[in-house]
Amino acid sequence: MKKYELLIFDLDDTLINNNENVRYAFKKMTEVLGYTYSDEMFNKWQKFDKKFWLDFYNGKIEIPYNKDDERFVPYVQSLRYRNFFRPQISMERALEINPKFIDWLKEIVVPEEGCYETLEYLHQKGYKLVVATNGANQAIESKLRKINCRQFIDETFSADMTKECVTKPNPIYFKELLDYLGYHEKEKILLIGDSLHSEVEGGKNTGIDTCWYNREQLPAKEDAIPTIEIHKLKELTKKL
Ligand SMILES: [Mg+2]
Repeated sequence: MKKYELLIFDLDDTLINNNENVRYAFKKMTEVLGYTYSDEMFNKWQKFDKKFWLDFYNGKIEIPYNKDDERFVPYVQSLRYRNFFRPQISMERALEINPKFIDWLKEIVVPEEGCYETLEYLHQKGYKLVVATNGANQAIESKLRKINCRQFIDETFSADMTKECVTKPNPIYFKELLDYLGYHEKEKILLIGDSLHSEVEGGKNTGIDTCWYNREQLPAKEDAIPTIEIHKLKELTKKL
């Protein structure tokens, strides 16, 4: 007897290797701006980008538009390039580059090691497979097609489909997800993802078992203990 019926996967850094998408887009951007790409520069960008978003969410970055203004999001996104490459590029140039950067991010999608085999196996075993993210639904569909795995997935769900505009790990996100799926047997659901915050805590707060995809073999946190832990996706074919 299988313990679980429904497996809910995260996408970025769980089924796909987001780092490689970003590297590709960053490389293209340096080309267009006339820089010579190096891994060192990319590592610097990643640290910078992480800090930028942290500062942004902590209200440390001033934006000259209101949140509901359509210029708000492109401005925030573009400000990152302006600040990183300052003073070589202007805000106007950064705003011009932004839609291209977003396209480049979608151009190449690299699956996580063992992704295809694992999803194919679980699908054949009769599990219902769902992908749920905090990104946009259009992005999930196109990414899954690009890694040739869409046929294994029963449903996709994303933050932009929630009525309350919520993201993981908010329990309302998971409530809306289960309502959308019309499935409420929580004890038969396993939530799988790379984030202790979004998936492990999210599952815990919602009363759903979790599987932490701990690719980098990081230490766990006391308040976010997963039901299962794996270091490679393929381990799921042994555990489920
Ligand atoms: Mg993730």
